[in-house]
Amino acid sequence: MWMGDCNGINLLFKLSIPTAEFDFLETFTTTPESLLDITHLYIRSNHKLARSDLIQETENGIKRLSINAIHPLTDRLLPIFINDEADYGPKIRANMSMLNVQIGTPKSNSYDESFANKHKVSTVIDSSTHWHKMDTETLLSELRSRELGGYRTSGKLSDWCISRQRYWGTPIPIIHCDQCGSVPVPENELPVRLPSIENIRSSSKTGISPLANAHAWKKTQCPKCGNENAKRETDTMDTFVDSSWYFLRYLDNENTEKPFEPNTVNKLMPVDLYIGGLEHALTHLFVARFIQHFMHSKGLCTSLEPFKRFIPIGMVQGKTYKTSNGQYVTKDKVLTIDKNTMIHSLTKERVEVDWEKMSKSKYNGTDPQEIIDAYGVDFTRLLMLNFVHPRSLRNFTLEDGIAEGLQNWFKIFINLYVELIDPRTKTVMSNEEFQQIELALREQRLNTIYTVTFYIDSFFSVASAIIELQKLTRYLRKVPINIKRESNEYLRSLCDLLVMIGPVIPALSSELWTILQKQIKTNIDGYDLNKNLFAQNYPLLPNDYPAKINALYDTTVFASMPIARSLLPTLTTTDILQQLNNNDNQLQMKTFIEKNGLKFDRLRKLDDYCATLIYERDPNVTIVEQSEPLVEKKKSKTSKKKQVS
Ligand SMILES: [Zn+2]
Repeated sequence: MWMGDCNGINLLFKLSIPTAEFDFLETFTTTPESLLDITHLYIRSNHKLARSDLIQETENGIKRLSINAIHPLTDRLLPIFINDEADYGPKIRANMSMLNVQIGTPKSNSYDESFANKHKVSTVIDSSTHWHKMDTETLLSELRSRELGGYRTSGKLSDWCISRQRYWGTPIPIIHCDQCGSVPVPENELPVRLPSIENIRSSSKTGISPLANAHAWKKTQCPKCGNENAKRETDTMDTFVDSSWYFLRYLDNENTEKPFEPNTVNKLMPVDLYIGGLEHALTHLFVARFIQHFMHSKGLCTSLEPFKRFIPIGMVQGKTYKTSNGQYVTKDKVLTIDKNTMIHSLTKERVEVDWEKMSKSKYNGTDPQEIIDAYGVDFTRLLMLNFVHPRSLRNFTLEDGIAEGLQNWFKIFINLYVELIDPRTKTVMSNEEFQQIELALREQRLNTIYTVTFYIDSFFSVASAIIELQKLTRYLRKVPINIKRESNEYLRSLCDLLVMIGPVIPALSSELWTILQKQIKTNIDGYDLNKNLFAQNYPLLPNDYPAKINALYDTTVFASMPIARSLLPTLTTTDILQQLNNNDNQLQMKTFIEKNGLKFDRLRKLDDYCATLIYERDPNVTIVEQSEPLVEKKKSKTSKKKQVS
């Protein structure tokens, strides 16, 4: 999809007089059958060849170049016009030179025809040549043998310029020789290593690589003719070259013979879970997948795709205050008039609130150290992990009662453990009542374990897990004192809570664990109180605790049913769909699917824990909005009024 369909071919035109930048003009056309009808070319005014020393003005006021292009087959000289009005096809990336060149074929295109007539371009095509006796496929193969294009490609693809003018990069292993031209560094001299340079100067202004100043390194012998004055290439490779296959090297990083040993790497590839920023999805993944497909085609990698799952993590954003002319204002200069109005305290100008990527110039950055200093490191961790799914944008703030809310939970949480040291006195409670409360507590505890595990394993949603653990905390607080003093189930809940929340707030959890170690005198199933918190096992569910089948759309579980855990691993997708379709709430589920125009897409199974049927929008279904028309609502209101009066 990213690369687009290969719905056209590339074409290369030699220039009648090569320029410093170009020997060729390259373009892309979806009409290779009109190849022999090309009479002229257009380039956009932002094309690098459209420069003043090459431009001539024609009598009609249109600009053309003083050099011509040469037809790749017939050798006809083709004038090159600078014309932004021509049809360059869909504008995908303005900087792609291939799309800034277009062919003119008056025979099949009326715009080109009237352009040619107006600007006196000869439209005569000699159709008696041997070329005209060939079909399009033969013409394309002729182009390929001449190395002048003819390859099926997509208009979205272009050459990748990998050279960068930076010191930190992989050296390009090429030596330039006056006699031999560009010569590859012999394999036994690879890798070319970077020289150590003091004071690496940024080259952004000069456009010259810092390595150009490493004269001793740069001067070398030509591997072909022995010329002592040959020069090493001083540009280095784009970092995307390395990042497109680093995951293969990491798996075999001690290998001194080759980049990686396929047998070693193929045992572990593909990567199970890949986490990165959104820019990964746009550029790096594109190149990494391309290289992996290439390695696969060469038989070096058995997996076609490099990554099984990818989470593009959301960006952290800060609150900005901006005046109407786009000037950012620091928070201390903002006066709040009411809920919807804020003004600049000095100029009294109205200030708009927005959320944007944190930046010094926008005065919206938050230094984590400030939060650590004010609230402690565990609070800061909890704040960071809380509230949003990893994919979502994070609007970072401590306002709106967020700090108070978290601190409040911390108090309740800490108190659960501290009160073990100095327990309150028991009240009167019947055995029956005790057992009932304990049973409900057990249900709550197991449900928390199930849900927390589900959220983390299926969605990596630590924030959802935290909500469940906060719920358990509040539940435990309300448990009657008799249970707190005598129930093993209660103590076990305290252990479970610490083990599950431990990775989020490790320092505090470890401290509270030491209280459990001192205060609990009995044996707690599944735990070894002689060992520290992080030596404990993650809480397990009893075997009779049911698994779940869920139906999910976006982030909404719209149907759910329990199923025996022993059954789940053997069930096929069809079985699971059938089970869910026969469940008690099937009508509700059917309505949801119809209302949202959904279709079953795929099954995600988590061992014997749960099976999630993932639904997506069905593109073939048009959703009819079923909300009440406004007019009718108004009518009913008026009729009510009438009744009242
Ligand atoms: Zn040479």
